Amino acid sequence: MIANVHTGGCQCGAVRFRLEGKPGQASICHCRMCQKAFGAFYAPLVSVGAAKFAWTRGRPKMFRSSNYVLRGFCKNCGTPLSYEAPDGIGLAIGAFDVPGRLPPVVQFGIEAKIPFVDQLHELAGHDTMDDLESAPFLSDLVTFQHPDHDTTGWEPRVDAEAEHWRPKEEGV
Ligand SMILES: [Zn+2]
Ligand SMILES: [Zn+2]
Repeated sequence: MIANVHTGGCQCGAVRFRLEGKPGQASICHCRMCQKAFGAFYAPLVSVGAAKFAWTRGRPKMFRSSNYVLRGFCKNCGTPLSYEAPDGIGLAIGAFDVPGRLPPVVQFGIEAKIPFVDQLHELAGHDTMDDLESAPFLSDLVTFQHPDHDTTGWEPRVDAEAEHWRPKEEGV
């Protein structure tokens, strides 16, 4: 891990990016558009700021969420990756290889904050492997997620659907 370099990418590995230098402000945004774009309670984003930014593998597909904003995501696996507006580019902190290096320092869009967000840290917590009886498949799970570092020649598993478990088709 190089001190002033931050790398990251989508879950399948088709899209990778690199920030070199000091990134701008890291934040979370509670606005309704960020909730939708991330499918989450809020969006964690770090602005590129004065750092040098490049997509190093593939490019995100863009959804225009408003007249001023584009939202980038992997068209292969759906991972939200970017927020691009006239005031600059923000990158999804959770998509970085080491999200813990980019602690948020401010919250935006608090008029839309979901009230229970303030109590999440009070919930009971469990390790993934705490309850193997209710999810025994976890003991032989094989991940197809891209590792948390740059790679050469990574092929996203586009064939994974054909070979592996899939949900029963019901009521679709
Ligand atoms: Zn992907
Ligand atoms: Zn927002």
